[in-house]
Amino acid sequence: MRRIGIFGGTFDPVHLGHLRPALEILDALSLDQVRFIPTGMPPHRNMPVASAVLRLAMLKAALADESRFHVDEREITRTQPCYTVDTLAELRREYPGAALSLIVGMDAFLGFPAWHQWQRLFELAHVVVAHRPGWTFRNEGVLGEVVTPRLSASATELTRVESGCVLLQPVTQLEISATLVRDCIAAGRDPRYLVPAAVRDILIESKCYAKR
Ligand code: ATP
Repeated sequence: MRRIGIFGGTFDPVHLGHLRPALEILDALSLDQVRFIPTGMPPHRNMPVASAVLRLAMLKAALADESRFHVDEREITRTQPCYTVDTLAELRREYPGAALSLIVGMDAFLGFPAWHQWQRLFELAHVVVAHRPGWTFRNEGVLGEVVTPRLSASATELTRVESGCVLLQPVTQLEISATLVRDCIAAGRDPRYLVPAAVRDILIESKCYAKR
């Protein structure tokens, strides 16, 4: 069975807090690949600060040296808001029989009940939740009700079936966010070691986020 990770985000910009957890999850689940899907118009939040072209260029530069990481451009070119459930349904049609794992950070996961048709996400894919500093899952509310029966104790379960499991996955805790990177640049500081060197080069060259 093919095993595919799907990691959506604004990536405004991509940073090491995205890349290291994605790599650790790829290894823990023995995924064949992780598809990074930068969003065009996120339905749940403000429009990204950097242009789609620049976010895409930074993501490509960040992923260039890991052959199991792929940039998937299907959402970024759209002019309508994209819902994760629709993207997953599309991927499900493209990869019949594959185990699909939607990768999200804990903050995003806790916000699931506000997502369009969120309960369908579990029909279409597994959900792998990367621990993130400052965010904890509590088995309560509507999310707890839906998720608890689906919780998996180990990654192995996610390799046996195509969808439906939830895995809370410990990863190296990196308190880095795109907001932190943007604020750092806006304050005139160097984002070195928060982002890959190739992304830093683009940030310096483009002066993106420098003045807001
Ligand atoms: P912003 O600061 O602009 O809100 P962000 O750093 O949260 O951005 P996004 O592109 O919005 O980045 O996030 C994409 C996905 O990556 C989300 O599921 C988010 O939870 C996850 N993520 C981002 N940063 C981390 C981190 N440091 N550790 C674990 N998961 C993360």
